[in-house]
Amino acid sequence: MIIRALRDERIIITRNHRLPEARGLRVLLIRSEKIKAQVAEALEALKIKPDENAMFSRCIICNEKLAVIAKEQVKDKVPEYVFNTQENFITCPKCKRIFWQGTHWGNVNDALKELGYFQ
Ligand SMILES: [Zn+2]
Repeated sequence: MIIRALRDERIIITRNHRLPEARGLRVLLIRSEKIKAQVAEALEALKIKPDENAMFSRCIICNEKLAVIAKEQVKDKVPEYVFNTQENFITCPKCKRIFWQGTHWGNVNDALKELGYFQ
């Protein structure tokens, strides 16, 4: 994790006080114990203002911009229940993962609304 953070100029967000120090390593130490407070703490410390229109526009694994994919193209690539209940799908051009607006999507939006970032 430390090597990757240094190589990719990433910031490690952690509650681990015992992370070893390394030259150039950027660490944001989170003090809150509850998840919503942790999110607020990180957004404030990193001066990030979430953009409601940019939510879920990048792959959570490789950070590539996601692209719309037709429903018929995901038929055998997503669980049957998901295929039967969802209409819109997006995919990552790099890792080929497929995403849809599941409950996680709503939970994140609700949390950011609760924190006052979204209306
Ligand atoms: Zn990806």
